[in-house]
Amino acid sequence: MKVTVLGYYGGYPTRDIGTSSYLVESEGYHLLLDAGSGSLLALEHHVDPLALDAVLLSHYHHDHIADLGVLQFTRQLKRDEHGNRAPILPIYGHSDDEQAFEKTTMEDVSQGVDYTESDQITIGPFEVSHLKTLHPVTCYAFRIVERNTGKVFVFTADSGFIEELIPFSENADLLITDTNLFRGMENHLVHMTSKECGQIAHKANVKTLVLSHLPQQGNLDQLRKEAAEEAPKTKTILAEKDLEIIV
Ligand SMILES: [Zn+2]
Ligand SMILES: [Zn+2]
Repeated sequence: MKVTVLGYYGGYPTRDIGTSSYLVESEGYHLLLDAGSGSLLALEHHVDPLALDAVLLSHYHHDHIADLGVLQFTRQLKRDEHGNRAPILPIYGHSDDEQAFEKTTMEDVSQGVDYTESDQITIGPFEVSHLKTLHPVTCYAFRIVERNTGKVFVFTADSGFIEELIPFSENADLLITDTNLFRGMENHLVHMTSKECGQIAHKANVKTLVLSHLPQQGNLDQLRKEAAEEAPKTKTILAEKDLEIIV
């Protein structure tokens, strides 16, 4: 599978870089993971939004769904080169927030699907399981397994540190974390620190750790070093716009 970073800031976009969004691809299938601010413009550099096969949402904070409405409008208004409209887009969300979940369905455009109705769901070539995180609103981390290869991509979404993230990330080939905080702010109730992300990667035997949901201020190389110190066997890198990771 291939994972492409479309936006990586937490909270708000700045300096031409948007908030949480990733394109996850396998066998010609295109899954958008979160749809943060700027994600639609970033997506177009990689794939036509009409070619998206599904969207998966961790939670309904603005920095994860800001472009969802304009994605729906794109699918409603834009036609392909043959004049055809895109098929109805499945948008996988949770229904704890009923009002937000309802917005994932738009007539003739998209259909909301509640992924919490079973422990594991199939989305195209992926098997996806979820874990409730520590966050002020209901939010889920995802473990995405590519069926044909068994390769594993874990996305923590937004979360303070919880022990459960360690077994959930076990032997992941790729782990993308919410690393919004520098070392020294551990046990925060909303986000994780560099140190905590490094510790999860180390204890879970993760191959590659990508720090994301980054802060707009501060020395990001310092953030990377703090995480890497905790996980000497893990390749630890910072998210970058358009970064492509082959898993
Ligand atoms: Zn966020
Ligand atoms: Zn959030």
